[in-house]
Amino acid sequence: MEQKLQELKTRLLEINDLNGAVALLNWDQSTYMPPGGAAARGRQMATLSRLAHEKFITPEVGNLLDSLQTYSENLPYDSDDASLIRVTRRSYEKSTKVPPALLSAFYEHAAASYQVWTEARPNNDFAAVQPYLEKTLDLSRQIANCYPGYDHIADPLIDMSDEGMKAESVRAVFANLREQLVPLAQAITSQTPADNSCLHEAYPPDEQLAFGRAVIKDYGFDFHRGRQDMTHHPFMTKFALGDVRITTRVKETDLNEALFSTLHEAGHAMYELGINMNLDGTPLAEGTSSGVHESQSRLWENLVGRSRGFWKYYYPKLQQTFPTQLGGVEMDTFYRAINRVERSLIRTDADEVTYNLHVMIRFDLELALLEGTLAIKDLPEAWHARYQSDLGLQAPSDVNGVLQDVHWYGGMIGGAFQGYTLGNIMSAAFFDKAVEAHPQIPTDIEQGKFETLHGWLRENIYQHGSKFTANELIERVTGGPLTIDPYITYLRTKFGDLYDLS
Ligand code: ZN
Repeated sequence: MEQKLQELKTRLLEINDLNGAVALLNWDQSTYMPPGGAAARGRQMATLSRLAHEKFITPEVGNLLDSLQTYSENLPYDSDDASLIRVTRRSYEKSTKVPPALLSAFYEHAAASYQVWTEARPNNDFAAVQPYLEKTLDLSRQIANCYPGYDHIADPLIDMSDEGMKAESVRAVFANLREQLVPLAQAITSQTPADNSCLHEAYPPDEQLAFGRAVIKDYGFDFHRGRQDMTHHPFMTKFALGDVRITTRVKETDLNEALFSTLHEAGHAMYELGINMNLDGTPLAEGTSSGVHESQSRLWENLVGRSRGFWKYYYPKLQQTFPTQLGGVEMDTFYRAINRVERSLIRTDADEVTYNLHVMIRFDLELALLEGTLAIKDLPEAWHARYQSDLGLQAPSDVNGVLQDVHWYGGMIGGAFQGYTLGNIMSAAFFDKAVEAHPQIPTDIEQGKFETLHGWLRENIYQHGSKFTANELIERVTGGPLTIDPYITYLRTKFGDLYDLS
C-alpha cells in the first residue's frame, strides 16, 4: 500500500508541476510579457495543460485509486492520506467524464470568444458576441450533460467551482438574502450618498502601493513566499506553497483601487500561504472552493479593511503619507467615503450592500439560459429588465450591461458567479466564529494587530487546503449549515451606524 500511495503521489506531483508551470506562464502573460508573445504563450499553456490533463485521466491513476480505496477508508477521515485519496478520486471521476475532444473544443472556442469580446465591448456590439455566446451555451450544456443524474443542469457546473453546492440550495440562500438586501439597499440609497471626493485627489502611485504593502505585511502576508506585481485586472496565483503571487493596479485619482484590491488579493494569498506545507505538491494544496476563497479575500478587504476599528489605527498613518490630500479630512468623512453605498451599474465597483444584487442577477440569468427559458438573443433585454427591477437603474448601452463581465466570454455559462456571494455570506459567518473564540480580535484590529485573527483562520480554515468541501468546512467551523444571519447582522450593524435606518 505504501508503495502504491507513493506511486500515486509521484504522479500527482508531476501533474502539479505542469500546472504550476502553466500558472507561471499565465502570471507572466498578465504582468510582463510583451504583446508579441500572446500567440505562442496561448499555445504553450494549452500544450502543458493538455499534458497535465492526459497524465491525470490515465487508467493507471484510476487503478491506483481503486487499490487504495479500502486502505483509505480505514484511515481517519481528516488524515492527509485519506483526504488525498478521497479528493483525488472525486476529481478523477469528474475529469474522466468529459471527453478530451469536447474539452479542447470548449477551450479553443473560449479563447476565440474572449478575443471577440475584447473588441465587442468597447464598440457596444452585442451582435458580434451573440453567435459565440450561443456556442458557449451549447458547449456548457454538453459539458453539464456529461454528468447525468443531476437535479438541475447547472449543478455539475456549479460543482466545478463550489463542490457540493447545487442550483436549488444556492437559489434558496440567495432568495433569502435578496429579501433582506433589497429593502436595506433601498433605505440607504434613498439618502444622499456620502461625499467621497477625498478619495479622488491626486495620490502618487508609488506611495499608494507602499501603503498597501505595509498593511498586508501587518496582516501577515509573507513576502518571503510571495510578491506583488502590477497588472490590468488584479488576481492571485500560486506556483507552489512557497511562491504565491498577487497583482494590483493603481489609479492616481482613485485611492480605492490599489489599496482595496491589494487587501482583497492578499486575503486570497494568505489562504494559500496558510495551507499545511505537508500538502504541497498535492491536489489538496489549494483553497477548497471559489466561495471559501472569496470569503477570505472579502474578510480581509471588507470586514477588516473597511472597518472603523481598522482605520482608527491606519488613518493617521494614511494622513502622514498624504498630508496635503488628507491632512484636513476628518476620519469620519474618510470612513464614510470608503463605505459609500450607491446604486451602480458595474459589479466590480459596487459597495458591500449592493454588490450581491449584481451577482444574483447574473446567477439567475445563467440558470435561465441553461434551462432554456431565456435565449441568448434576449439576454441584453433581460439584463436591463433585472437592473431596472433590482437596482432601479438602466444602463445606457450594453457596454455597462451584459458586456461588462469577462466570465461568460472566456469561460462557461453556469457556475461562474455564485461563489462571490457565497463568499460574502461565509466571510461574516467565519469572522463571527473567530471573534467568539477570541473576543479581543476587534480591539486587536484597532491596534493594527492581526495575529490572533490570522492564527484562528490558519488553524480552522487555511491549513486544511481542500481536504474538506465548503459545506464540510462550514459545518466544522460554525457547527451548522451556511446561514445568512451573521452576514445580514453585519451589514445592518455597520450601515445602520453609517446611515439613518429605521
Ligand atoms: Zn476574489
